[in-house]
Amino acid sequence: SPIVVRDFALQIGRKPFQLISELMEMSIFASMNSSIEEDVAQRLAKIHGFALEVRHRGEGGAAGEAEKVVEEKKPAREMVPRPPVVCILGHVDHGKTTLLDTIRKANVVSSEAGGITQHIGAYQVTHKDKLITFIDTPGHAAFSNMRARGARTTDIAVLVVAADDGFMPQTDEALGHARVSKVPVVVAINKMDAPGANVDKVLRQMQERDLAPEDWGGETLYAKVSALKGEGIEDILEAIVLQADVTETIVADPKGEVEGVIVEAQKELGRGSTASAIIQQGTLKPGMALVCGENYCRVRQLINDKGEQIKEAGPSSPVKIVGWSGPPDAGDFFKVVKNEREAKKHAEANELDRKKLEATQLQERGSTSVDDLFAAIEKTQKKSFTVLVKADVYGTAEALATSLQSIKSEKIDLEVVDMGVGDITRNDVLMSSAAKATIIGFNVGIENGVTSVAKHHGVNLIQHNIIYELITQVKDAMTDMLDPEL
Ligand code: GDP
Repeated sequence: SPIVVRDFALQIGRKPFQLISELMEMSIFASMNSSIEEDVAQRLAKIHGFALEVRHRGEGGAAGEAEKVVEEKKPAREMVPRPPVVCILGHVDHGKTTLLDTIRKANVVSSEAGGITQHIGAYQVTHKDKLITFIDTPGHAAFSNMRARGARTTDIAVLVVAADDGFMPQTDEALGHARVSKVPVVVAINKMDAPGANVDKVLRQMQERDLAPEDWGGETLYAKVSALKGEGIEDILEAIVLQADVTETIVADPKGEVEGVIVEAQKELGRGSTASAIIQQGTLKPGMALVCGENYCRVRQLINDKGEQIKEAGPSSPVKIVGWSGPPDAGDFFKVVKNEREAKKHAEANELDRKKLEATQLQERGSTSVDDLFAAIEKTQKKSFTVLVKADVYGTAEALATSLQSIKSEKIDLEVVDMGVGDITRNDVLMSSAAKATIIGFNVGIENGVTSVAKHHGVNLIQHNIIYELITQVKDAMTDMLDPEL
């Protein structure tokens, strides 16, 4: 039997749509019901850490045909639970920085008090013997930057909402980011001590956003805290640990090849270039050689968030790595290679690739001014028209997504960030606003009041009940995007 996208996704525990977009990156246009070639399935399996074993059966059977069955899948990696990596999001002044500080201070055992805590962009605390890693940059700049680079670096988002203020535009924007990235959200209702604190209002706002707490019949975990007074800190840590327990993706292979992501980098007096990172796979040790873009490193020292030198850093550990050739970019991923020489070679090759690209762009333009250089670089950054597809039934949404994707051209890509069934909701708008997407609706209506929300967030809606008309309108919108001056 053939390997069908939908079944295959199920087997490796991924959403079919994720596979469809990965297939698209391989220039294969598939739908949920398409069957894919064995070698393609192998490649997909590998991306997700599986080895695919295809058994050819039925030899000597009716027609002597070999039947392909995905018989067994073995994880290529030995996945074990790791601490969750958590970021704190929310509206300005709702207490993100204070909460990060308070959580950190509450966790310093007295013997350490007065010890040097180092700001390395992330820190780890323990709650009931379980570790939690916090990204120590409030706001979601780091978060969305990392997401833009196409990988999930955060496992759980804590959405801070001030009890005296409630949900604000940036709270919704942050929520949209978390949803687009499929990162589960835990809510911290902060400023419980403030005179105007109104928990019921916040809970109601949560419910309106599909974030209903358990006691309101939903699934969202929340805690009432006062970051300023240090109250409720245990509760929010407990909520994070509970959320981590039910989130299946928080695993890694501590024995696998080392991979990680840079949180921040700097040049330090006496230490040279250093980079703070979070380890994602494997265990990093001094002496190992790393490549990150055009920079490389022979690890001279590993320093944890307490300023101590450590001998190894496993999955989810925040660590400062000393020994870089230059400061790598925040959000970039690094990997381990055989030795320093290899690392240098890789980094130089990466640098050369970039220079070659720039040079050809210059040649094409036949000029050398800095402005032209930027223009040339910009030219290679293909534009992308992002859409969220809504239709009356799932099959139609899928068919529509596929036809839309077929209209991408040399100069512009069409990217479907999500698709769904039913009327266009407020949530669709918030998600599209975060993803800078246009909502495409086929045979669906708009929920009450949502048109004005879309207007407020600058989200475009394209709706029609005739597919041909819809596609024409999308093409027009894409043309407008290419020639904004027209
Ligand atoms: P951020 O912009 O979200 O990082 O917010 P900050 O952490 O900088 O806090 C903004 C203001 O709110 C500061 O003046 C804090 O002292 C105050 N604040 C933070 N948490 C609380 C709290 O739990 N209760 C009260 N009353 N004020 C708080």
